[in-house]
Amino acid sequence: MADIETDVVVVGAGPAGSTFARIAAQHGLDVVVFDKRKEIGNPVRCGEGLGVAEVMKEGLDLPRYTYSIEIYGAKVVGPKGQEIILRNENTRGWVLERKYFDKWLAELAIGKGAKVYAYHRAFDVKRDADGITLYVADGDEKVKEIRAKMLISAEGMEALIARKLGFPTVHRLYDVDTCYQYEMEPYDHENLIELYFGNEIAPRGYVWIFPKAHKRANVGIGIGAHLATGNKRGGLPGATPKVFLDKFIVNDVQLKEASSLLNFGGVISVGEPINKFVDDRVMVIGTAAKQVDPIHGGGIELAMEAGVMAAEAAAKAFEKSDMSKDFLYNNYEAVWRSTRGKEIETRLKLRKALESLSDDDLNHIFDTLSGDDVLAVMEGKLAGPIAKVLKGRPSLLKVLKPLMLG
Ligand SMILES: Cc1cc2nc3c(=O)[nH]c(=O)nc-3n(C[C@H](O)[C@H](O)[C@H](O)COP(=O)(O)OP(=O)(O)OC[C@H]3O[C@@H](n4cnc5c(N)ncnc54)[C@H](O)[C@@H]3O)c2cc1C
Repeated sequence: MADIETDVVVVGAGPAGSTFARIAAQHGLDVVVFDKRKEIGNPVRCGEGLGVAEVMKEGLDLPRYTYSIEIYGAKVVGPKGQEIILRNENTRGWVLERKYFDKWLAELAIGKGAKVYAYHRAFDVKRDADGITLYVADGDEKVKEIRAKMLISAEGMEALIARKLGFPTVHRLYDVDTCYQYEMEPYDHENLIELYFGNEIAPRGYVWIFPKAHKRANVGIGIGAHLATGNKRGGLPGATPKVFLDKFIVNDVQLKEASSLLNFGGVISVGEPINKFVDDRVMVIGTAAKQVDPIHGGGIELAMEAGVMAAEAAAKAFEKSDMSKDFLYNNYEAVWRSTRGKEIETRLKLRKALESLSDDDLNHIFDTLSGDDVLAVMEGKLAGPIAKVLKGRPSLLKVLKPLMLG
């Protein structure tokens, strides 16, 4: 006899898991969520930037305590210090307080009837014809057996349970950015997120400054993890994200005088999503499925969006009593791949083109493109900006050709 019996068990109470739980519970399903963190949302391992996401537009109103400040655009800076300012509806957003944001999402799910357990680590899983058994250890390492008709893996980068169920969640170094971030103060800003590019600044990545209230700022970096492996395996000597970030900070007029309040490191997928999101009775959502933007490593919006899609699919699956992988594929995976998936494919090509550019090429691009051009690129409208870049530097044709082929 299991300790808990439920319709759906969710592993992970990040944005993906809690969003799934909220919508699925709203459809009347019994949902139980486990998270290994002692406190939902804490510790934070995130730059905390969130754009005006579709999921938000669809009716979620962020309570004031869940974000630090509103953002009115972005400042993108090239290797020579060229600044491009982006301001339009699509560059608006928030720098969150994820500690409160994630907890708020979990509370919304609880409000709809889901049950959430913090400090419960899922460590094993078995599936049979009638259901799924998940094994979780609580804070005292006491094991509980959970029996469910469906399991949702919303485990983020680790994705242990999804891997045990046969999903290919192992990461290649080349497809991961390794990151480091400080919270710093004081930093004067203009409510713009700031992104700094250049091979000397952040090889295959960028430095971000995401401003917060009270002159605080998240100052972070992501670089290609394959470059950060030292000399022996083809990496750059001594390349760790912290080394690059510290170099950036001592060269910045404001930051070199600022104090640090928090330090942490982390990793994020910037490669392809995994090649299957579903199996019988199982769906993988959010960063566990590598549903992350390959250009900037943002995954909060994608995680929430997948949570909504998968919950709608789960509701239909229970209604039809069909939890087969084909049903889940048609109602979740196929929907994702034909919408967001297409966008992510283009952005992955763009990432691969960008990473092969020298600083000289990057300078040419920054000198050539306007804010509107960069916004067009971010929206996937590449033809005009590419034509402008090629006019002044036809030698980039080889690198940019894959983008022109769509
Ligand atoms: C340094 C850094 C900066 C980032 N900055 C941004 C940013 O500014 N904007 C943005 O949009 N994205 C950013 N991201 C990415 C973003 O944090 C993730 O994409 C997002 O959190 C994904 O949400 P999720 O719900 O899929 O997974 P997560 O938020 O990772 O949640 C997964 C949850 O599962 C739990 N879990 C894992 N394994 C188990 C287990 N076995 N048992 C129980 N619980 C488990 C974890 O404790 C966690 O709470 C950043 C990532 C990093 C590393």
